[in-house]
This record gives sequence, structure tokens and C-alpha cells, in this order.
Amino acid sequence: MPPSSAASTAAAEAPRRRMLNAMTVDVEDYFQVSVFEGVVPRASWESMESRVVSNTERLLDLFDEHAVKATFFILGWVAERHPGLVRSIAARGHEPASHGYAHRLVYDQAPEAFRDDVRRAKHLIEDTSGCGVRGYRAPSFSVTERSLWALDVLLEEGYRYDASIFPIRHDRYGIPNAPRWPHAMARSGGSLFEVPGSTVRIGGTNLPVAGGGYFRILPYAWTRWGIARVNRVERQPAVFYLHPWEIDPQQPRLAANALGRFRHYRNLHLTETRLRALMRDFAFGPLETVLAGCAA
Ligand SMILES: [Zn+2]
Repeated sequence: MPPSSAASTAAAEAPRRRMLNAMTVDVEDYFQVSVFEGVVPRASWESMESRVVSNTERLLDLFDEHAVKATFFILGWVAERHPGLVRSIAARGHEPASHGYAHRLVYDQAPEAFRDDVRRAKHLIEDTSGCGVRGYRAPSFSVTERSLWALDVLLEEGYRYDASIFPIRHDRYGIPNAPRWPHAMARSGGSLFEVPGSTVRIGGTNLPVAGGGYFRILPYAWTRWGIARVNRVERQPAVFYLHPWEIDPQQPRLAANALGRFRHYRNLHLTETRLRALMRDFAFGPLETVLAGCAA
């Protein structure tokens, strides 16, 4: 490579390294995913082989290896059964946050049932970790046009930010015209920070670029290009998300329709290698740190 080209590559990479992106994990077991809701009823969760502790501990080790701190949106049901895991997340310097208690889709719940769910999870995680819980992410990004009332409930229950609105078109979630960057939302009860999943905008359409099935199913180059574009062109932090079961190719196989199986099982064996590459290519921190650098 000619010296001038090497220099320009280094110059191009410098801003990318300075931008802090958010690393987030939704802590749930493989059988609690919405796609298996009809296959593994909540009443049988207790009887399933649990793999969430070992998978989350592997993620914690991976983050330590790369000096990455993250936000863990912990399911209350998991926190209740595995308090040592919650304490470990906090003791290793990460931000504990809430994924609700029972992994029920927000738009399938009445507001009072939702209130009970997010209150129970918040108390459980705070009591166990000894840390205040400020953030919430809904199961399957299920804050949509028909469940925006949830934001008011979150404020009333003491949450300060929500990370549940995905500004994309999807069969189960999304508000395609929602703002694409972290922003303060004025609600009747005060101001709640909203932290959308990251997208790039191509031809008037928002496309997801930072996490979950999109990270596993599409080539890694898509994520790398997308986050670099968000950081360098749009000058915004990206919000990356994954689940502990996504680094577990040995997890038991459950029945679901073909699309559900594709989304859940595709390329599980590649996630860990890709995650290592991602943490080499970009800087990550917990959401509370990333938001501190955003204008309210
Ligand atoms: Zn979830």
C-alpha cells in the first residue's frame, strides 16, 4: 500500500475510534424469545434447561477481554432466579437496566398490567444489584404507535430512558417515521429519553444496521459499514444489541415456523467471532455513558 494511501486510511479511521457507541444486551434465555411464545408457555419456563447464566458470563468475559462496558437489559424473571448473575453484571462495571419481568409484548398488555411488569422488574434488579435502574427496553421492541402510552407509565415508574422504538418497518414492531437518534421526548409527566435502534437511511427507507438477527444473518460487512456511516457521516453514536443465546450454537432446537427458525438459529456459530471483530473495529460503552454525551 503506498504511504499516502496508508496515511489517508489512518486519518479516516481516527474519528471512528473516538465515537463511543452503545453496547447493549437483552438478558433472557433462548426459550423466552417472542418467536417461541406459542411453543414454550410461561408456565413451563421453569422446567426448561436454563443456559442464560453461562451464556451471559461468556459475554461478560468477552467484554472484559476488549475492555468494553455495556448496558444489560435484564428480564425480571431471570433476575429473580439468578441474583448472582445480576450482582456479577453490576460488580464488573456494567449498567443494569430492565427488560420487563415476564417478556410480554407491550401492545398485548393493558397499561396497568404493563405497569406491574416494569415495576416488578425494576425493584428486583435494583434490590439485587444495588444500582438504580434508569433504562428499559421492551420485549421485541414492542413500543409501537399503538402502545406509546407505555412511555408515560415508564416515566411514572421512575425510568429515565427507553430503548424500545425501532424506526423501521417490520412485521412485529417499529415506527418507520420515528426519529432515528437518541432524543428527549416531552410527555405529560415529564421528559423521557428515547434511544432508537440504529439505522441507515437509503432511498427514503430506514434499514437496521446494529444488532440482533441483522448482525447474524447479514454479512458482518453490513454492520461494519452501517456503524461507520452512522458515526462518520451522521456523527451519531450507534446502539448495538444482542442476546446471550446468540453466542450459543449448542442451544436446544425448538419448534417454530420457518421464518422464526431462520431468524433465531441462523449463523449462531458466527456471532462470537463477529462480536470480537466488532469490538476491535469500534469503541463501545454503556448507554448511560453514551447518553451523557448526547444533547437533551
Ligand atoms: Zn427479549
